[in-house]
Amino acid sequence: MPDIRLTVGSTLVLNATYEPLCVVSVRRAAILVLSAKAVCVSDGDGTLHSVRTELPVPSVVRLTRYVRVPYRTHVGLSRRAIFARDGGRCAYCRGAAETIDHVLPRSRGGAHAWDNVVAACARCNHTKGDRTPNELGWRLHAAPAAPKGTAWRVLGHRTPDPRWSDWLNLPEVA
Ligand SMILES: [Zn+2]
Repeated sequence: MPDIRLTVGSTLVLNATYEPLCVVSVRRAAILVLSAKAVCVSDGDGTLHSVRTELPVPSVVRLTRYVRVPYRTHVGLSRRAIFARDGGRCAYCRGAAETIDHVLPRSRGGAHAWDNVVAACARCNHTKGDRTPNELGWRLHAAPAAPKGTAWRVLGHRTPDPRWSDWLNLPEVA
């Protein structure tokens, strides 16, 4: 195993078909390259030094052999992920969101699920209370749904390296 001392940062891994697969540590990516399991597609900043060799920091690597990966199609429902999906904006007034709101309140049987949670500002959340948007005559900016697309599958709510953008269909920022 090569002695890679620089371990900061992360690397996007593409399948042999150039399809984005996952994000790994720079160290893990360097080991893939040095063991010929992957080739570097895009260099990052700097150079990695091992005992016997030097290697540009890999920003994007591509596997030399195709692997079948059981994709995690389900994006975990977390506060960070909800804020990321909603662009940090309140679903009701489009102001800066600070809280998570259940569209159909939990007290009335609303599920804690992607299609029933939205980011909301504290004022709208407080005003809404245990009511539904319909009861208040409010309109949702968009119907909430589970996030889709390559970027979400690969990144979750991680902030992508700009160098990866050629390989990911990044969602538009709201
Ligand atoms: Zn609001």
